[in-house]
Amino acid sequence: MEHSILVDGVIDGRQAARIVRARVKEEVTELRAEGIHPRVAFVRVGEDAASETYVRAKARACGWVGVRSEHIHLPSNTTQQDLFATIDRLNSDNDLDALLVQLPLPDGLGGRQVLNRVAVDKDVDGFHPENLGALVAGCGPLEPCTPSGIMRLIEMLGVDLRGKRALVVGRSVIVGRPMYNLLVRGHATVMCAHRHTPDLASLVAQADVVVVATGVTGLIRGSWIKPGAYVFDVGITRQADGSLAGDVCFDEARGRAAGVTPVPGGIGPMTIAQLLSNTLTCAKLRRGLIERTIHRA
Ligand code: NAD
Repeated sequence: MEHSILVDGVIDGRQAARIVRARVKEEVTELRAEGIHPRVAFVRVGEDAASETYVRAKARACGWVGVRSEHIHLPSNTTQQDLFATIDRLNSDNDLDALLVQLPLPDGLGGRQVLNRVAVDKDVDGFHPENLGALVAGCGPLEPCTPSGIMRLIEMLGVDLRGKRALVVGRSVIVGRPMYNLLVRGHATVMCAHRHTPDLASLVAQADVVVVATGVTGLIRGSWIKPGAYVFDVGITRQADGSLAGDVCFDEARGRAAGVTPVPGGIGPMTIAQLLSNTLTCAKLRRGLIERTIHRA
């Protein structure tokens, strides 16, 4: 392990994110010395309070590593045509390296059509079908930030996935499915559960690595977890008292698992750190400093 990100059974996502950011900052400094100043745009539509918080957190993190960022906020009554026009303008902006459309979008804007509109090389979230397809093929440079952040945590923890069983709970296109594929690429034997899966407890009990992304507070009970497993909790749900909670019963899981990520302070900061890393990748891709097709192990 390169730094201690595991303290008393808790995987410290904030510390891991600091390590990733330090590397990104070094590279940004080098690029800036060559006259390249990476720039990312965040497009947000409507008044979703959580989205506003996330975009602000992303912009703040950009500032920490010397990446330029721009927050474009469109009103709730924006039409799909207007949103497409904004994306097209940003796609063709030669001074812009990376572009992210914050989800969820208001109803009626056609989430998938919007994500498909983002230029493949500026798709910092890795949600374009071409980038998702390349992830499955194992050759793409831009991979979704949450699953790739979890793979980085696994690497930092020194967990060798060979011979391990992993379980992904949730099959969304932005988290569960890419996570499944990255774990398979990492040589784990992977199961994927979703809302139609019976007897979730018995699957959790078999897994050495569990990634949960459902948005169902406290879905995973501590007693289900295999002793010594690593548990990554992606879920974030705001509770009635204003606090944030994950999909895993954290207090039950801690101590039984070898390591569990807290909410907040676990996957969230790593996701943002990975976004910075992807912004750097976009900046290099557009200038031909890295290949579009990467040959991964
Ligand atoms: P989603 O709603 O698109 O998908 C939820 C998935 O959970 C579905 O595949 C569904 O089948 C599964 N599911 C629902 N109930 C289940 C149950 N009882 N048992 C098993 N599976 C069940 O959600 P998403 O976009 O993948 O996000 C999931 C959660 O992760 C949300 O809370 C979201 O806010 C959070 N999230 C956090 C980050 C981060 O940076 N920390 C990033 C992305 C998403």
